[in-house]
Amino acid sequence: MPVFSHAENYNHEQVVFCRDDESGLKAIIAIHDTTLGPALGGCRFYPYPSEADALRDVLRLSRGMTYKAACAGLNLGGGKAVIIGNPREDKSEALLRSFGKFVNSLGGRYITAEDSGTAVSDMDFISMETDHVCGVSMFAGGSGDPSPVTAWGVFHGIRAACDEVFGTADVAGRKVAIQGVGNVGVHLVKYLHDAGATTVIADVDDARLKQLSDEHGSEVVGVDDIYGVQADVFAPCAMGAILNDTTIPQLKVPIIAGGSNNQLENMPRHGAMLREREILYAPDYVINAGGLINVYAELRDAPREKALRDAENIYVTLREIFALASDRAITTAEASNLVAEARIQSISSLSSFHQGPRTR
Ligand code: NAD
Repeated sequence: MPVFSHAENYNHEQVVFCRDDESGLKAIIAIHDTTLGPALGGCRFYPYPSEADALRDVLRLSRGMTYKAACAGLNLGGGKAVIIGNPREDKSEALLRSFGKFVNSLGGRYITAEDSGTAVSDMDFISMETDHVCGVSMFAGGSGDPSPVTAWGVFHGIRAACDEVFGTADVAGRKVAIQGVGNVGVHLVKYLHDAGATTVIADVDDARLKQLSDEHGSEVVGVDDIYGVQADVFAPCAMGAILNDTTIPQLKVPIIAGGSNNQLENMPRHGAMLREREILYAPDYVINAGGLINVYAELRDAPREKALRDAENIYVTLREIFALASDRAITTAEASNLVAEARIQSISSLSSFHQGPRTR
């Protein structure tokens, strides 16, 4: 595969191929852009069908991290790592520590974290070889599960969208349809109920559904029915690519604001479909930045309270993005990209004056 001319290589600064035959490690680390700070992004452990698929994924995801950190106002660049393999069968202490050594060899240009297929406990092993890891367990001195902060950011994103559409950020009396009540969704249900909203929930996990309907009176619907629920907000909190040609015509909501990554199956086309239908879309990487804000706080030894407060700024960022989209007659997804690029551009002009941004 032609790496330098790869279609998804959007001017990446550095791509590192990591191989250790003893432990079976095969990994790729992609550093997209370090203008704002060290490239931070999770390490995905996944049985990619081919090395080309793994490369494509890591290039795409690392670029996404650059935009996410930029919009969140963090002094971080964008990076990502993928380990090729089945996390259930191939994961071992030796493999994770070997990966940690490769991360360490980059001298802090890349900071790793958990992602799908890796857990907080894996970060503990990686942290035995490098300091350039976050999301380690509270036991090992880290900040633990980021999901409550992610959900808190999503909650404030929902408030921003309600302000835009209904003229008030108060969610009391609003009805929110939530797809997926896992780590993020379960906290979101709680925050919304505490603020006086009602929720309609769908999941493949019946035990979780029962627990939430018992505790908060959430209405339960089938996984295929969640798209057609008449509500004020649809909050996708399960998987990606769920806004597509099949689901968008079913929607009966004026707002989409949820925590899932990569919600639009095709960013320009499905973003435009939502805009045509006058459905306000809160760009996923902006509204779900609470997890990244949480690990950034961990890097600076700041307490969880600081991360929660910073995640509330997602409200302000989204209001700016909605205003820009409206002024320029573009989609909110396009507007968020412009906001990210403008910040990187403005900070890049400072780089000749000092050694680079402070992260800690
Ligand atoms: P999770 O795995 O804990 O929860 C996902 C939930 O979705 C599970 O309860 C699962 O049963 C459910 N689900 C699976 N298939 C479904 C279907 N077809 N319909 C409805 N529900 C279904 O994951 P999470 O940590 O809560 O993350 C949710 C999303 O948010 C993911 O896209 C993740 O990448 C993104 N995200 C999470 C964080 C975080 O801090 N956890 C941060 C940023 C983004």
